[in-house]
Amino acid sequence: MKMLSALAAVAILPACLLAAVPESFETDVLPTSQGDLRLTFIGHGTLMFQWNGKTIHVDPVSRYADYARLPKADVILVTHEHGDHLDKEAIEKITTPATALLATQVCCDQLGAGQVMRNGDVRRVAGLSVRAVPAYNIVHMRSPGKAYHPKGEGNGYLITFGDKNVYVAGDTENIPEMAKLKNIDVAFLPMNLPYTMTPEMVASAAKVIRPKILYPYHFGDTDTSRLVELLNGVPEIEVRVRKLE
Ligand code: ZN
Ligand code: ZN
Repeated sequence: MKMLSALAAVAILPACLLAAVPESFETDVLPTSQGDLRLTFIGHGTLMFQWNGKTIHVDPVSRYADYARLPKADVILVTHEHGDHLDKEAIEKITTPATALLATQVCCDQLGAGQVMRNGDVRRVAGLSVRAVPAYNIVHMRSPGKAYHPKGEGNGYLITFGDKNVYVAGDTENIPEMAKLKNIDVAFLPMNLPYTMTPEMVASAAKVIRPKILYPYHFGDTDTSRLVELLNGVPEIEVRVRKLE
């Protein structure tokens, strides 16, 4: 009996080592070759990953969470400078002298801090590999010829956690570069108009990327059940709808 409780204590230890996450956020856990990856769904395009004792914040924004209460960042990734993705105040609350901040040129200019990641750049930080990939509009334009997200400015991020590859697409449409993504275990794809994709565009992106798990995110009031319906005939892609809005 004593032996059993000792085992149980060991089993829950890694979770205890991670700073507590307020209970209002949904989380999923994905096993990797170097321990569990905990995914916390903060809201909209904002995420937090915890893995191998490290905390990685993606697009931390104060309107979706009280960052004073969240774990400090080992790594912060910012996809682009729009107000629903770049928030200096949130970044400052989770930054320590050891934090690596990776962002686009425009974000780094606005923050006066950070390491610039251009589309195609790869960095190793905190034991993980981060690749910046393109994120842009082809169809949806702010005005004729002017995309909401012009090519070459914003980033998506491909993050490798041990043997698992997680793709956070950023604000993008289904662009041809997605065909180059291989062995994607988890994909976060944005689904709101007019800024990113329709459910149909997300479904066609998913059929190209073929992630094992697909999280629609950045979806506002888009009907997520439409995406589930569109991918009904593709059982190898598991669509998971979480509280992200
Ligand atoms: Zn945007
Ligand atoms: Zn956005």
